[in-house]
Amino acid sequence: MSENKDQKFVYDFTEGNKELKDLLGGKGANLAEMTNLGLPVPPGFTITTEACKVYLESGDEPAELRDEVSAHLDALEQKMGKKLGQADNPLLVSVRSGAKFSMPGMMDTVLNIGLSDESVAGLAQQAGDERFAWDSYRRLIQMFGKTVLGVDGELFEDALEEAKAAKKVTVDTDLDAADLKKLVKQFKKIVKAEAGRDFPQDPREQMDLAICSVFESWNTDRAKLYRRQERIPGDLGTAVNICSMVFGNLGPDSGTGVAFTRDPASGHQGVYGDYLQNAQGEDVVAGIRNTVPLADLESIDKKSYDQLMQIMETLENHYKDLCDIEFTIERGQLWMLQTRVGKRTAGAAFRIATQLVDQGLIDEAEALQRVNGAQLAQLMFPRFDEKAKTELLGRGIAASPGAAVGKAVFDSYTAVKWSRSGEKVILIRRETNPDDLDGMIAAEGILTSRGGKTSHAAVVARGMGKTCVCGAEELEVDTKRRRMTVNGTVIEEGDVVSVDGSTGRVYKGEVPVVPSPVVEYFEGRMHAGADDADELVQAVHRIMAYADRVRRLRVRANADNAEDALRARRFGAQGIGLCRTEHMFLGERREMVEKLILADTDDEREEALRALLPQQKQDFVELFEAMDGLPVTVRLLDPPLHEFLPDITELSVRVALAEARKDHNENDLRLLQAVHRLHEQNPMLGLRGVRLGLVIPGLFTMQVRAIAEAAAQRIEAKGDPRAEIMIPLVGTVQELEIVREEAEQVIAEVRQRTGIDLKLALGTMIELPRAALTAGQIAEAAEFFSFGTNDLTQTVWGFSRDDVEASFFTAYLEKGIFGVSPFETIDKDGVGSLVRSAVEAGRATRPDLKLGVCGEHGGDPESVHFFHEVGLDYVSCSPFRIPVARLEAGRAAAARTTGSDSR
Ligand code: ADP
Ligand code: MG
Ligand code: MG
Repeated sequence: MSENKDQKFVYDFTEGNKELKDLLGGKGANLAEMTNLGLPVPPGFTITTEACKVYLESGDEPAELRDEVSAHLDALEQKMGKKLGQADNPLLVSVRSGAKFSMPGMMDTVLNIGLSDESVAGLAQQAGDERFAWDSYRRLIQMFGKTVLGVDGELFEDALEEAKAAKKVTVDTDLDAADLKKLVKQFKKIVKAEAGRDFPQDPREQMDLAICSVFESWNTDRAKLYRRQERIPGDLGTAVNICSMVFGNLGPDSGTGVAFTRDPASGHQGVYGDYLQNAQGEDVVAGIRNTVPLADLESIDKKSYDQLMQIMETLENHYKDLCDIEFTIERGQLWMLQTRVGKRTAGAAFRIATQLVDQGLIDEAEALQRVNGAQLAQLMFPRFDEKAKTELLGRGIAASPGAAVGKAVFDSYTAVKWSRSGEKVILIRRETNPDDLDGMIAAEGILTSRGGKTSHAAVVARGMGKTCVCGAEELEVDTKRRRMTVNGTVIEEGDVVSVDGSTGRVYKGEVPVVPSPVVEYFEGRMHAGADDADELVQAVHRIMAYADRVRRLRVRANADNAEDALRARRFGAQGIGLCRTEHMFLGERREMVEKLILADTDDEREEALRALLPQQKQDFVELFEAMDGLPVTVRLLDPPLHEFLPDITELSVRVALAEARKDHNENDLRLLQAVHRLHEQNPMLGLRGVRLGLVIPGLFTMQVRAIAEAAAQRIEAKGDPRAEIMIPLVGTVQELEIVREEAEQVIAEVRQRTGIDLKLALGTMIELPRAALTAGQIAEAAEFFSFGTNDLTQTVWGFSRDDVEASFFTAYLEKGIFGVSPFETIDKDGVGSLVRSAVEAGRATRPDLKLGVCGEHGGDPESVHFFHEVGLDYVSCSPFRIPVARLEAGRAAAARTTGSDSR
């Protein structure tokens, strides 16, 4: 591709358009789009990502590039009526990086290219302003020195501070031409000393060096790491934009600003942005002087303001979305320097999407693509009351959403101790490590002063669904003295703090928590049509209704009892995809399970099972009633038996103490023997799932009987139970055949005894690689498959989730081995390819095989799209994630026709 002879490496802004992001980068494509809309964009041209690729492959610019740049520069000079760096009337340009996706680590923009010792005088002449010319020159040397020549930027900052201090002024605009001249001299010295060369005086050399620097910045460590984590291909390359300069620093009738076409927080149309008079480029966001709200521009420069409002409307109507923009006013003339579809809050995303439908700008299918499940999930967390008075302590990275309130503790031991005595605690650490795991489990929320989105704290908290703010650097955490200091405020152990994992904010004291209105709506406690329904709820309602209309995937819930099932139903569940039966063996029933495990004779065992049967049956009756008319997949007992026995250490101590007292407890002794006997090195791979059913006679048949009798009872009560019996951890069809035969016998017995024509489906989980690999055979004995992607991920990767997430996932994420944990989002290439082939093999054997997934992945947005694509019939997830799965299933179905760039 890059060898193509006729390839064109440079595009004038008049030649591109917004669809050419691959070639021109986001910034270049949108500059071209605005140019062609007739908006006032300073003329310029874009060097393509293809040129960058050649440079990175060969270490040199493509041979034709220099000539092409020269030709475009000539044309630009002609258009502008001046020459780059010309002594008496210089053309100046900015050199701006711009990849397809905006990316941290890319080279910063260099403004004012073309200024030199000679042309600075020309600029002064041209503008009639000497101070302005020298200010522009010092900015060039500063930016060029830092970004192109790699000089430490602080050296320039320090020199600037000194100059201001020497003059006893606080803002840069108070420095006059003479001061700036001196500063330029000093800046040049810094460059010479640090970079070992003079600041280049040849304007074309300045430009060419800046262009190559942009190319090279594609491969900085920071950029590479970001790409690995975000799954951005490493070979896209960046474009370079050369844009003629316009000046916002030409006095009070000039300035620079940023704006949104509507409020990125609420979605409302209006005037949102900041403006700074007499300033250039980043000044407006750098906080060097106080900006004014954009609305004030109306009184500063009415003509430019009106024009800007008009342009913003044009952009919205054209992009059919919220846009953010950068603009500059040069002596009363407005210039557009950038636009793109703007970032927004989760709530605004839903509101804007429906507002745009109402305005007739987009249709419902497009509205569905404008929101996503992650945003919906964010809206479903309880949140801090916005009306509450709060005392903000600081901000960090919003690592895992939620609103947590508790007493500050600075070590895991205290976290565990206090939470055992009923206190709610927030675990505050500089950073966490595997030793903090117990404390993290015990805490309501986790707060760290170090580390980013992939730090240990962030990864583990997300895995646990626990609120976490990390990397709040203003916090000085002193674990030895059990306190932290934030901007002078001291928080001692036991002081209450509130942590907002959705915004990264940390507050002193207790901030009241309010339920999410979106959850109130899903719960049926608020109706979208009601008078008090807010705009957000109405927007969510409309988009969900559309998603439900178009989706193909059904959505079921993982729920173990009637209460969860009812909630799941309110949230839109179309059945239960996974009912775990292990909880039916806990609590008071533990004793019966102990009896079962300790049984020496068939009689003892049968007695224990007989005692369990009515209880199990009652559980199922309730569940089938709650889910009347909808399928309920019941998984037979899965976990290893020792999970039902007392802890080995506790029991050993008890037995030892009793021995010392010469007070033998026969039962404890036998229990201890059983615990030893059942102890496993690797329980995850041990005696569990179908293996239990095959080794412990009567266990699975008792469960099947409970299910069948419960179903019969519901039918007698004129109900409509739709039970499906699911066998876990099958690795080979032979296991399934044996269990199936026994189950069918039991069902036949119940049928005969009750005279009721029971229909119970029998199927299996696919959660071992061998099951997936032999899915064609297994389908002979299974009416349905449910992919257990948690265990499948563990066994395909050879990861024990509990161990690896806490110990080395952070390192893996930091090294970019994966961008997201395979337990969060399905690993499409590995685990996913097994799912895909098992689907095909299963359906080949049994065309009407029902296919679903019941791992956590069933509620993960990206994974839902994958399951849609491989043709599953349903996904099943925890009740709370059902709306997310419904939304994403709709998006996946609609994406086929619209298809939009989601990044
Ligand atoms: P970023 O990718 O960080 O937004 P930009 O290339 O947009 O970087 O430029 C940084 C700053 O310089 C922005 O404020 C932008 O508006 C300003 N800028 C860029 N090019 C010009 C120009 N030709 N004239 C005036 N200001 C410019
Ligand atoms: Mg910009
Ligand atoms: Mg499993």
